Amino acid sequence: MISGGLEGAGTVVINTCSFIGPARAESEAAINEQLERKASGEIERVVVAGCLVQRYRRSLIESFPTVDLFAEISDYRGLASAIADMAGGRSAPAYLEAGGLRAPERDAARLLATPRSYAYLRISHGCDHECSFCTIPSIRGPHRSKRLVDLVSEAEELVSAGVRELVLVAEDSTAWGRDMDLELPQLVEALAETEGVSRVRVMYAYPNRFPWELASLLRDHPNVATYLDIPIQHAATPMLRAMRRAGSGDVVKETLARLQEEIPGITIRTTLLMGFPGETEADVEETIQLVREHRLSRVGAFTFSPEEGTHAAGLKDHVPSEVALERHAAVLKARDAVLEEVQGGRVGERFDVIVDEGSERTGSAVARAEWDAPEVDLIAHVEADGLSAGDIVQVEAVRLDEQCNHVCRLVEDPA
Ligand code: SF4
Repeated sequence: MISGGLEGAGTVVINTCSFIGPARAESEAAINEQLERKASGEIERVVVAGCLVQRYRRSLIESFPTVDLFAEISDYRGLASAIADMAGGRSAPAYLEAGGLRAPERDAARLLATPRSYAYLRISHGCDHECSFCTIPSIRGPHRSKRLVDLVSEAEELVSAGVRELVLVAEDSTAWGRDMDLELPQLVEALAETEGVSRVRVMYAYPNRFPWELASLLRDHPNVATYLDIPIQHAATPMLRAMRRAGSGDVVKETLARLQEEIPGITIRTTLLMGFPGETEADVEETIQLVREHRLSRVGAFTFSPEEGTHAAGLKDHVPSEVALERHAAVLKARDAVLEEVQGGRVGERFDVIVDEGSERTGSAVARAEWDAPEVDLIAHVEADGLSAGDIVQVEAVRLDEQCNHVCRLVEDPA
């Protein structure tokens, strides 16, 4: 039996990340934890798959000699049959190579690790940008779009498994379709029109060469969240140049301003990279100002990590880590002030939410409004019995909890 949880598992498969130092450390800690469980006899086998393997290849065998199988990204079928062989006591390989870049083909029937309410839909693989701090293009290769027809078919399959919200992910979602003379808005519209889809959410949009036809969909289409995740990394032009990002601070600001003007009520989520080599206090202040001026309430931030093999690792003027952490804290403090205002301003409002965790056990459900993406943003607690994952209900925000999440009551008779 395949399960998303650890309970009762004989073989544990760890899907790893190695994008930056902290992600790598998290992956390594997870591997060590499962190897300890194996040593104590709690589980029989540990399989390590994904980006960490793709990046460090067979050198990982030396670091973790008791792992039963390593698998580079791509070959899911080979991974499944190797695990079946191991579990059946047959001989199986100890290392699976990707055998080249993964083709942008349709994903086969998926076992969802997410609640029934939402599912991630990968729309393309790889990235053509060359951000100087990033290892992803070297791990995942150039950008390749999955075909529109395949994505609609995947969406139909997910809907038939009960999924209501599709969260579109890619390394660079706004590049989708350009290798096929298409643009992202065509895909978003097709998915939003797919029967049974209640909400389409766009993540990982690159700010340069933005496909502006998307604006009317974000504003007007009832099944497209009025939300955009658009990682900008920084507001200061010298930093963006050093990061080898396309565009400038002005382009970033103009893009955010135009989005907010053309799409009233849009929630913009972004990611910021603080403590990049050469960053000055003025650069930090410019970024904090941007958070305030554009009222960015959904912001993730990370500090620079010099990654082996990247251009940025060789740059001079490294910012001491304690200074980088202070700057990281400063942008998050600015975000928190906006967040409190934005969330507080919605108390008393009525809005629709999708339930991610039903209220069967606790009498309170965990849900999300369109302004929150799963896992990275906030949640809404709905104090009501009888709610199940996937339900869409209208609620009224009654107050905020300590993390600024809304605590809501169910509106029994939505007008
Ligand atoms: S756009 Fe994203 S994935 Fe691509 S190189 Fe830049 S940071 Fe990496």
